[in-house]
This record gives sequence, C-alpha cells and structure tokens, in this order.
Amino acid sequence: MRDRIILACTDCKQRNYVSKKNKKNTTERVELKKYCKFCNAHTVHRETK
Ligand SMILES: [Zn+2]
Repeated sequence: MRDRIILACTDCKQRNYVSKKNKKNTTERVELKKYCKFCNAHTVHRETK
C-alpha cells in the first residue's frame, strides 16, 4: 500500500530525499520545498521514479 518515492530537486535534478506515500490518499505527484545542498537553497522537490 505504501510506496517508496524519490524526491528530486527540480533545479539541478539531484535526487536528495527518499520518502513514502500512500497511493490511496495521495494520487497526484508529490511536490515539497526542501533544502538542496547542491543548489545551496530551498527548492521544489518533485516525486520521481
Ligand atoms: Zn538542487
């Protein structure tokens, strides 16, 4: 039921975070503002496969 997802920075495309989501509750793509050490800033991280 719970799927592992990878969160990648939308600026530099680095995969910085691994998370989980419940597919039944969250059907859309996850987007979170997180710190990216490669950009040295908070950027939007998007679920990737
Ligand atoms: Zn980045």
